[in-house]
Order: sequence, then C-alpha cells, then structure tokens
Amino acid sequence: MNTGTVETVKEEDINEEVASISQLLRDGKAFVMRNVTFVDFKRVLEERFSTGAFAIFYDVGRECGIRSCQRLMQRHPGRVGLLEAVARYKRDELWGEFRFELDKDGTGEVYVANCFEARQYGPSKQPVCYFVKGYLEGLLSQAFSRPLRATETACIAKGDRECVFQIEQKS
Ligand SMILES: [Zn+2]
Repeated sequence: MNTGTVETVKEEDINEEVASISQLLRDGKAFVMRNVTFVDFKRVLEERFSTGAFAIFYDVGRECGIRSCQRLMQRHPGRVGLLEAVARYKRDELWGEFRFELDKDGTGEVYVANCFEARQYGPSKQPVCYFVKGYLEGLLSQAFSRPLRATETACIAKGDRECVFQIEQKS
C-alpha cells in the first residue's frame, strides 16, 4: 500500500543524499547513466505503455521527491536553505540548473535549464519531463507541508530555452 511516507529516515541515507558526487562514485554509492541510455530507458517504457509511461515517470518522480526531501530536511531544516541546497546538489549531479521562484505558500515557478530528462530526448510537441515534474511536486509538497501540483509549461524538448514548471495549490 502506498502511504507516501517513509517510516524512519536512516542516517546513512541522509549522508548519501548530501555527499558530493565524486565521493559517492568513490564509495560505490552512485553509478553513471549516460543521457543516451536514459533516453532508451524512457523510449522503451513509452513503446510498452504508451502514455502510461508518463504516469509511471511522474509517480516515481513524486515519491522520490518526497523521500529526498525527508532526508534533506534533516540537514537543511529551513525552507530557503533547503531549496538552495537542492539547487546546488542537482547542479552538481548534472540534473540541471534549478531556479526556484516561489511565494511563501510554495506556489510560483521553477525554472530548470539543461534538464537531464529532456536534454537528448529530441524534438517533441509536448513537454517530456514527467519525472522532474513529479519530483518537484513531491519535494515541494513535502517542504511546504501542503499539497501542490506541478505542470510543465515549457520544455527544451519542445525547443524552449529552458524547462518551466508552474507550481499551484492542488485543489
Ligand atoms: Zn522539460
């Protein structure tokens, strides 16, 4: 059953969440996935499950965002510091350049330049960053302690300059 919460946050998982990427690779706690492999991974799911693949990426991203936030909050209890840390970690991990422009209630926009999910996806008529959309939704809902919804309104796969996610109150 999906409860959307993690019972306990393990110290070793927190350390892994905040370690540098070079340290993680040295310790065997991370591995490299090439952009080309990630695109293959995405395309295979899309071929098998059609638009169901979008829901899979979104759901996985959302749960990862919640869990990641629960770990990060142990080191960065303040919201401003937390979002700065997320931007720094994700830049270092080459997920993209995250910029949060949010009001006190968590609504607003998140800009992601060079988003890994769209980087090599190729031309698309619609936004493709379902994992990142879910990740942001989970992360921000957790950080702001309220249900928020993310919608991707611009995407580099569509030819836009950067990916943009609108964050709204979930009705
Ligand atoms: Zn995108």
